[in-house]
Amino acid sequence: MPEKRRIEITLWGVRGSIPTPVAENLGYGGNTSCVSLCYGDSPLMVLDGGSGLRALGNMVNAQGLAKIELDLLLTHFHWDHIQGIPFFAPLFRPNCAMRFHSIESRDRLKQILQEQMRPPYFPVQMPAVQADIRYLQADKKGFELNGLRIRPFRLTHPDGAHGYRIESPDAVIVYATDHEHGDAKTDAGLREYARGADLLIYDAQYTPEEYTARHGWGHSTWLEATRVAADASVKQLALFHHDPLHDDAALDRIVEAARREFPATIAAKERWSASY
Ligand SMILES: [Zn+2]
Ligand SMILES: [Zn+2]
Repeated sequence: MPEKRRIEITLWGVRGSIPTPVAENLGYGGNTSCVSLCYGDSPLMVLDGGSGLRALGNMVNAQGLAKIELDLLLTHFHWDHIQGIPFFAPLFRPNCAMRFHSIESRDRLKQILQEQMRPPYFPVQMPAVQADIRYLQADKKGFELNGLRIRPFRLTHPDGAHGYRIESPDAVIVYATDHEHGDAKTDAGLREYARGADLLIYDAQYTPEEYTARHGWGHSTWLEATRVAADASVKQLALFHHDPLHDDAALDRIVEAARREFPATIAAKERWSASY
């Protein structure tokens, strides 16, 4: 029997909206959204390019590989999901092949990413980097990537966002960040895509009390996270996209409250790693 390949997941950025590297937030981490998935010897897969992507890039470079190959899947293009890309060190290596994926057309994806990497916003333009870059449109109906089945699904968010269900023969990871609950059709779809996941990463930016004054801002709550997790019978829930104002003490209280509703809950934490 060949040894089972496992998906090894590492969280590099767990914060929403803006990096908050202030001392009181560093227990959980101050970097914005970035998650890596390593599946056997397949190319590294990355979900979102928030500021957490910088440290991942440094780790990749430090491995000293003859050839670097990566797939970066983007949920949407708000700053906290792309701001790490210009600081991703492998972009400046000629031995790096980097593929960007999103639900947008290839031309639109290329245009969006090139817009943020040009003067006066950034001194190096995207076409001038040494890495070999490709832009790919994700098939909404699902596609195969590096031995994994990827199924994008729609979320409710200003300017739109898509989550991803990622399946190996043995495990399911669901990444659903930047989503506001409340639209019945999208919420039902989310529950279908999250069904039975080994790990559900979910936008829990607000407390239910905070949410009363944040309708329409595009984010959900820890309480709604526990409801989705229970309805979809997931095995583990990770509260994600922490509000910049939620310091370590606040997140400790949030995860404690969430565990009373859904015991298998963690609050996402930078450099947390697990395999499935
Ligand atoms: Zn965000
Ligand atoms: Zn967003």
